[in-house]
Amino acid sequence: MLQICHLYPDLLNLYGDRGNVIAFTRRCRWRGLEVTVRPVNLGEKVDFKEMDFLFLGGGSDREQNLMAEDLMERAGSLQAAVEDGLVVLAICGGYQLLGRYYRTLEGRTIPGLGLLDFYTEAGRKRLIGNVAVEVELAGEKVRIVGFENHSGQTVLGSTAPLGRVLAGNGNNGRDGGEGARYKNTFCSYLHGPLLPKNPRLTDHLIRLAMQRRGLPGGLAPLDDALEQAAGDVMLHRLLR
Ligand code: GLN
Repeated sequence: MLQICHLYPDLLNLYGDRGNVIAFTRRCRWRGLEVTVRPVNLGEKVDFKEMDFLFLGGGSDREQNLMAEDLMERAGSLQAAVEDGLVVLAICGGYQLLGRYYRTLEGRTIPGLGLLDFYTEAGRKRLIGNVAVEVELAGEKVRIVGFENHSGQTVLGSTAPLGRVLAGNGNNGRDGGEGARYKNTFCSYLHGPLLPKNPRLTDHLIRLAMQRRGLPGGLAPLDDALEQAAGDVMLHRLLR
């Protein structure tokens, strides 16, 4: 049995980001692996130690403002769980708040958790469009695809990027990095949603969650022909 925590599902759900939770859940259940999903909204208690997969979606500056304080109160327990190998996926607005801060275009600073070493400052030009990124999963180079729409430009400090931009902007449109990665924490600007479009990444996260929970066994292959074909079309258009 795996336990998923969906943090702020009512506030952070841009471009169908909750599809990430659905994809993770379905791909577990199709293999007979039980999963429970625990939605956690503002003020609701959760023990991250008991969770196997934590998902934080994207949100506008307004929504980020609304949840930043609540998130801050969870900083200690979240940090302990991240260090302990909790599998985390944070997208766009959720991603930005795991770093040091997010400065809006109006100059307001929303403090982040500082779990990872990066900061984000809004730029005048929004970074919008389809993206292709090369990431390394279990020693293998994999191409993932998605859609970005953010004004925030993220600059990584000591934290590694999730991958290398092949097409699109990624973290800031300048340094070729997309997302961030630390232990089992994965951050990305890619909506899409990300996991339904990229089953290999989804299975990688499921495997990490199973390992952390001490669940034996591999993952039976699934028929991903449709996802593969859709991804290939997108890659072909982006990289030609
Ligand atoms: N408010 C953030 C930005 O525009 C996040 C947007 C998002 O989650 N798509 O940079």
